Amino acid sequence: MTEHPPLTVPTEAEWDKAVAVLGDHPEAVLACHVNPDGDAIGSMLALAHALMRRGTRVLPSFSEPFDVPASLAGLPGIGLLVPPGQLPAAPSLLVTFDTGSADRLGSLSPLADSAAEVLVIDHHASNTRYGTLHLVDPLAAATAVLVEELVRRLGEPLDADIGACLYAGLVTDTGSFRFAATTPATHELAARLLRTGIRHDLLARQLLDTHPAGWLAMAGAALSRARLEPAGAGGLGLVWTDTRVAELAAAGLAADQAESVIDLVRTAAEAEVAAVCKELPGGGWSVSLRSKGGVDVGAAAVALGGGGHRFAAGFTSTADLDGTMAAVRAAVEAAPQPPP
Ligand code: 5GP
Ligand code: MN
Repeated sequence: MTEHPPLTVPTEAEWDKAVAVLGDHPEAVLACHVNPDGDAIGSMLALAHALMRRGTRVLPSFSEPFDVPASLAGLPGIGLLVPPGQLPAAPSLLVTFDTGSADRLGSLSPLADSAAEVLVIDHHASNTRYGTLHLVDPLAAATAVLVEELVRRLGEPLDADIGACLYAGLVTDTGSFRFAATTPATHELAARLLRTGIRHDLLARQLLDTHPAGWLAMAGAALSRARLEPAGAGGLGLVWTDTRVAELAAAGLAADQAESVIDLVRTAAEAEVAAVCKELPGGGWSVSLRSKGGVDVGAAAVALGGGGHRFAAGFTSTADLDGTMAAVRAAVEAAPQPPP
């Protein structure tokens, strides 16, 4: 298993350094993880708005495939995104969001080595501490939580643009405030964001409750072949299925439409752990793992070369489906079972 340094929260010195570095640089390349979600893009655009207000030139981007998920296309500032090919090869400042390791930057990962300063803003327990400056808090419910604190320390008020972007990160990463990482402070942050006047109802519908009609058939096919393995996950139960490139294509769906299938599969009462193997266009599988709390699937994902959080994690497999699931079974079996 990959070794990671012990968990810490940002120190006052780290916050001060981050604020100083952002003040020192007239231009910042901003980058989030490959196949970005609401927290990745939302956190990145929120800081982009705050930095632009201070006169910083911002270049927010993410890896090829440079396709913005439809659920995020309405976020304020989405038009600021710069195609990855148009970024400087060696920026003086790179800021990364929601990205626990440099390889998760995908085609932008060389920037983590070429940039003079790399500020890492993240909440993954599996964060490898790449980069030169760190705002990493594995207890934060979302990277958006850290970005709000940074915006405050930069002296920039929250407005509706920043509010919408941070809310997108918060509502998606907390599963609409249902997951265990949600605390009173999470709700207090949500209250501050709502006070900026955002339409949280429209945002949540677009982020979580909107699919092309063809998604129903694709998800239906994936659900109909879901298998329950009661003896899996050390007897706690494993449920899993797969999504197929051909089925997405037949329904005219973009690749990110497979992401929400795990939220349906994980509802199976008989299984503590859920997995969805999403077929990749170039071959191999991107695997989502979820736990109800009885198994540390983050540790399982790290053992499989991926990462994530204790109860929501993933990895990429180059094996076939049988080989991928054999690896999942073994890693989940060996994963620590946190106390209740
Ligand atoms: P999801 O299943 O929603 O794609 O991802 C759940 C969590 O696992 C997220 O925090 C995500 O960043 C992480 N994750 C998903 N796939 C991978 C992967 O291939 N490698 C790593 N390191 N983390 C992943
Ligand atoms: Mn996140």
